[in-house]
Amino acid sequence: MLACSPLTTPDVLVIGAGPAALTIAAALCERGLRVEALAAGEPDAPWTNTYGIWADEVEGLGLAHLLAHRWSDTISWFGNGGPGDAGPIRHGRDYGLFDKAALQAHWLGAGERAGLRWHRGQAASIHHDAGSSVVTTAAAEALPARLVVDATGHEPVFVQRPADGPIAGQAAYGIVGRFAAPPIAPGQFVFMDYRADHLEEQERRVEPPTFLYAMDLGEGRFFVEETSLALAPPVPFPVLRNRLHRRLAHRGAPVLELEHEEFCLFPMNPPLPDLSQRVVGFGGAAGMVHPASGYLVGGLLRRAPDLATAIASALDGGLGGDALARAAWQGLWPADRRWNHAFFRFGLEKLMRFDEARLRHHFATFFALPPEQWFGFLTNTLTPRQLLAAMVRLYGLAPWDVRWGLMALPGREPQLLARMLARG
Ligand SMILES: Cc1cc2nc3c(=O)[nH]c(=O)nc-3n(C[C@H](O)[C@H](O)[C@H](O)COP(=O)(O)OP(=O)(O)OC[C@H]3O[C@@H](n4cnc5c(N)ncnc54)[C@H](O)[C@@H]3O)c2cc1C
Repeated sequence: MLACSPLTTPDVLVIGAGPAALTIAAALCERGLRVEALAAGEPDAPWTNTYGIWADEVEGLGLAHLLAHRWSDTISWFGNGGPGDAGPIRHGRDYGLFDKAALQAHWLGAGERAGLRWHRGQAASIHHDAGSSVVTTAAAEALPARLVVDATGHEPVFVQRPADGPIAGQAAYGIVGRFAAPPIAPGQFVFMDYRADHLEEQERRVEPPTFLYAMDLGEGRFFVEETSLALAPPVPFPVLRNRLHRRLAHRGAPVLELEHEEFCLFPMNPPLPDLSQRVVGFGGAAGMVHPASGYLVGGLLRRAPDLATAIASALDGGLGGDALARAAWQGLWPADRRWNHAFFRFGLEKLMRFDEARLRHHFATFFALPPEQWFGFLTNTLTPRQLLAAMVRLYGLAPWDVRWGLMALPGREPQLLARMLARG
């Protein structure tokens, strides 16, 4: 691996110390660029979020050893939970939970071995001239670089996004703990349990649907999380907490010991940032959350090399200033990815309008697609043509209530559809 030299103005300053910042800093260092990074606190401060991922994704990247847990018994429930419910569907694919300390250490180690230099401080302002940018911290330290990559998460410090109506949030309330009885089958991972037989008929008809995401952590501990796919404004935490406890009580598994609570909220469908701006984004800052599934980490791992290569080639070609930033943005968001993003935003808008029964029918159909299609959709690894083929197939398999929901264009769907077609 080539070393990052701190002796001259660095090629790139990465701001942040979350998953996005560490992945892109390591990828840039791997290409022999001079990289510095700015962390608001200590770069190795523990991350609070838990990150789950399909095992095939990490295996493809040679990082399966960074999983703390791995499940082969992976299921979802899309029946109504009442008489006649056909039972769970089996995904036939392993799912994993990252050992987040190991994941963080993996990237920090890669940066350290390449000589990545860390600064500490809060980025406060930025100034650009023709060939470089200077970030100034809250403590008035000036940090110059030829290019700045903003990886400060969903509310980025410098990256600008156009206003585009209400942004939907994925909200979830989770508990790690011990229960009066196993809340899910031992050794199991439940991706989505949409059964709602613990709710009143009226709640099921008019209130937003939520599902259980759950995993057996071993030795009598489970993680159970009541999740809303997306809504604007998001489903409030007290509602999710109440629903989780009612679901658990209904299954005869009330909480005995509460070890940890997780409050999860992040934007699902922000518009793409302005791709002509001088500061380049990565991660939440660059709108990289999958707008239909909420996943980000797999995308970071797959796409950091694209952005790092685009930056390295542009620097090699003598580009600087605005031209360098534009080349970097194009590397991160080429036309095919922009089309997929528009397609997923349009799709999420539809799903947010589906009531509980239609959503269950939709997902039952979705997971009846060939595995490479549903997996490719969830991980955003299909080309636009493959995505369209998957959706045509879904339409063919779907019951009429889902087909009707797919065809109708209420609310701002026509606007999102038009934007998607314009990108085609
Ligand atoms: C509870 C929870 C669970 C999630 N689970 C998953 C999951 O299972 N799988 C998945 O793919 N995604 C998941 N997500 C979504 C997404 O992966 C996370 O939001 C992810 O942390 C975003 O990564 P990021 O590096 O872009 O931003 P962040 O993790 O938010 O990191 C931003 C970094 O920038 C720093 N920073 C901010 N402002 C400044 C500043 N002015 N100057 C210097 N530094 C600054 C912060 O200190 C931090 O280090 C989850 C999100 C949440 C909230």
